[in-house]
Formats: sequence, C-alpha cells, structure tokens
Amino acid sequence: MELDLDKSPESRSKEDAAPTVVGIVKEKNDNRVALTPAGISQLQKAKLKVLLESGAGAGASYDDSSYEKQGAEIASGDEIFKKADVITSVGKPDQETLTKLRSGQIFMGLLQPQINPDLIETLRRQNVTAVSLDSINRRLSRAQTMDVLSSQANIAGYKAVLVAADAYGRYFPMMITAAGTAKPASVLVLGAGVAGLQAMGTAKRLGALVFGYDVRPETKTEITSVGAKFIDLGDVSGSGEGGYARALTPEELAKQQDALNAHISRQDIIITTAQVPGKKPPLLVTQEAVKLLKPGSVIVDIAASELGGNVALSKPNETVITENGVVIIGAPNLPSAMPTSASDAFSGNLSSLLSYMSKEGVCGIDTEDEIQRDIVICHKGEIINKAIAELLNEKRG
Ligand code: NAD
Repeated sequence: MELDLDKSPESRSKEDAAPTVVGIVKEKNDNRVALTPAGISQLQKAKLKVLLESGAGAGASYDDSSYEKQGAEIASGDEIFKKADVITSVGKPDQETLTKLRSGQIFMGLLQPQINPDLIETLRRQNVTAVSLDSINRRLSRAQTMDVLSSQANIAGYKAVLVAADAYGRYFPMMITAAGTAKPASVLVLGAGVAGLQAMGTAKRLGALVFGYDVRPETKTEITSVGAKFIDLGDVSGSGEGGYARALTPEELAKQQDALNAHISRQDIIITTAQVPGKKPPLLVTQEAVKLLKPGSVIVDIAASELGGNVALSKPNETVITENGVVIIGAPNLPSAMPTSASDAFSGNLSSLLSYMSKEGVCGIDTEDEIQRDIVICHKGEIINKAIAELLNEKRG
C-alpha cells in the first residue's frame, strides 16, 4: 500500500497505514553512517521498517550482518531510493542523489539550508520533503536527544586536541624525568561553544595549560568550569540571539584580532572553533599572528571551510606548514575521523527524532509541531522553515 506521508501519524487511520520504510544510504565523502545497529533496534520499537544500503556502515565498523541482526534488510542503493519513504543520510544530497530522489520522499540529513539555499530550492521543486537535522531548536528540552549539532561538535572538539597532540613534537603535560623536565604545552582554544569547551576539557585532561576565549562574555563561567583560564579582551562583546554570537563589524573584528595577537604569540597549540550561524566564520588568527608563533606550534582550525576559516592560512582538509615552521591543520570534518562514536551519537539523535515523528509504525510530517516546524525546510512544494523562506525571498529579490 502507498503510504500517505502528508498525513500526520495522528490523523492517519490504522487501516491505511503501512509501516514507513526508512532507508540508510552510504555516504560519499564521510566515514559515518546515519543509523547504527543500536538505532535500528530503537526504530523496530517504533515499528518502522529499515533498509540498509549494503556496506553503508562499513566506514564506522558496522557490517551488514550487525544490522540484519537488529531486523534491517540489506538492499542496493538504487532499491533504497525506489522503496524507502524516508532517506536518511549524514550529509546533503549530491547531484547524483538528487536525480534519484522521488516526489513525496523525505530526505533527512545535515543540509545547512542557510548556506545551501539553492539545494533547498531544488528539493522543493522536486517535491521532496527536506528535513535538516542541523536546524533543530536545541533550546527545547525535548529536542535535546535529537541535537546532532551538539553531539558532532563534542566529537570534533575532542578529536581536535588529539590531532594537535599528534602533530606537536613535544609533550602536552609537564614531564619530570631523569633526562630533564619538559614544560607543559600551552593551548589556546578560540570559541567556547560545544566543540570549544570539549577541546578545553580534553587538553586539560592531557595535562596542558589551557586558555579559552569567546566573543560572548557570558562563556567565562563555562570556560573556567572545564579548567581553562578565561582570556578577557575587555570591551569586545558579540553576544547575539539565542545563545549564539553575532557577526562582528569589520572594525570590531580588527580590534579583536589585535587584542588576540598578544595572547596568540605565547601559545604552542591553538584550536579554533568560532562560528556564527549562517555566516562566514570570523577570521581570528591573522597572517601576522601566525608569524608570531614559534616553529613547531600547531593550529587546528575546525572552522576551516571553502568560505574561509578562523585562521588566515588554513585550507579545509589540508595541512599547511608555514615558512616559520607552524603547522596549520584545516579540519572541518573531524567527526568523520572518529566514525564509530560519531555515528553512534548521530544515530541516537536521528532514531529519537524518527521515533518522535512516528506513531504505530508511520512516520509523518506535521509542520505545526514545535520541533518539526524548524527542521522541515520544505514540504509539499512549500518552504516551511520561516528563516529559510525569508532568505529565499530575499534571494529572489
Ligand atoms: P557555534 O558552533 O555556533 O559557535 C562556536 C563558538 O564560537 C560560540 O561559542 C560563539 O560565541 C563563538 N564565536 C563566534 N564568533 C566569535 C568571535 N568573533 N570570536 C570568538 N568566538 C566567537 O556554537 P555552538 O557550539 O553551536 O553553541 C552555540 C550556543 O548554543 C551556545 O550558547 C551553547 O551554550 C548553546 N547550546 C545550547 C544547547 C541547549 O540549550 N541544549 C545545546 C547546545 C548549545
């Protein structure tokens, strides 16, 4: 029986409801998988049917049989696109995937609609329902188990420290040995959101001297609570709406960069995590600042992107060694480098969401629901998320 996904689970009668088929597709440029075997067992409780593209879990060390044991069926990629009502993915659909998506199908993944409005417009025109997991309202207490941004940022912050420690030619902790005493490494973390705080805590646990800075002054308590020293830049303040930072004016940013330089020059390791939602990441470590660092210093820029990152010379997914011997690692996708934990967490978030959206084995879209109205970006050919509707209207002029 064809499933009417336009009806909310509540409004669908038991007789017309065939179980929703959830498809898990293999990621193209990521080691993660959207749902792990533990997630399948949760979806079984919600009476949803699961189809896995063969090999989709391999990058995260989950083989097909571990999914079959939890009741998933294995299929080819093409079969998934034909049979599934909901396609689950970590990343956004590429051109090839877009050609396979069917009208009425739901696509769930990290779509970053604010920086990919053209993709949303394409999905809307194809009558695909786009559910963007990164658009969840994290402030709603019942949405916290579904907060993919936090679960993945937490992993990125932890892994950034390990990557930095691996590239650094010295100890992190103070080491007193018969051969002499090694000083502890000095680590500065810029940006004290989920990733930054985790990075500070991890560097502290490795024995480094840790400093933390954020443009939102209210982060001071959080920074000190993870054992880092708060860097106070005086009157540079950029608290925005909803706990996020606002984009600084060019003058404010220049002032901030100058004030940071004095602190940057004393560090061995710098980890940058600063983001402003929907905007280009702020440039915090200038070329001039990099020149102040000692040879062998390491910078890991989690915010590195095609638009630019927090560090002047960082390039996404590349390691640059400067003339003065500073190692700059552009690391925009660290969760993919810790794929099993990252997939476990992603899957926990996604299976909570799918269970929440489902009743009696049927997953439905309800654009009035307080969680869904943010994450459902387009549905039935209309843009549902208000901020994205405004953005697209502005774009159309
Ligand atoms: P994010 O990824 O948007 O940004 C990372 C950090 O960069 C932020 O702390 C931001 O203030 C900082 N930043 C931006 N511009 C900067 C600049 N010019 N200089 C220095 N730092 C700069 O942040 P996030 O991890 O998504 O967290 C954003 C907010 O959401 C925080 O207030 C966090 O506590 C909150 N949050 C709440 C919940 C919840 O309520 N359940 C869950 C997760 C996060």
